[in-house]
Amino acid sequence: MLPERVLGTKLLAAVADRTVRELYLWIIRRAREGVPARFCYRCDAPDRRRTFEMNIYLAANGQVEFASTLLHEEPRPAVALLETGAPREERMLRVCSWCQKVALPDGAWVPVEEAVNALHLMEAERVPLITHGICDACKAGMKMSIGLK
Ligand SMILES: [Zn+2]
Repeated sequence: MLPERVLGTKLLAAVADRTVRELYLWIIRRAREGVPARFCYRCDAPDRRRTFEMNIYLAANGQVEFASTLLHEEPRPAVALLETGAPREERMLRVCSWCQKVALPDGAWVPVEEAVNALHLMEAERVPLITHGICDACKAGMKMSIGLK
């Protein structure tokens, strides 16, 4: 797969979660100083678990570049929650932008398939809206790997 390049400003405009924005702002600032960042994240398709590697670095033209490469992909039964065209209800579910775990109402973060079972979404006519955030484990791991206190 070819690297996908996105301008930092465009990317941040699409990021609603405060913590995720802070992480990216820090990563971009460090990249401008010449310190690259590299991390793995999940970005699943409804019927495929996908792991990508992200590299954020200062390119020769002085711009901060985001290069995302597919590392691993495996098929699974399609999850309606992740289908763009699925009918939605007003309830929102938070999904971690890094590991794609879903926050349950009790605060636990679980894999998407487990959330679908726990919330009985298989039999639901409409699935909740999705909002992106970051789970506690990924937040701690990212802060450590990018040197953010
Ligand atoms: Zn996570």
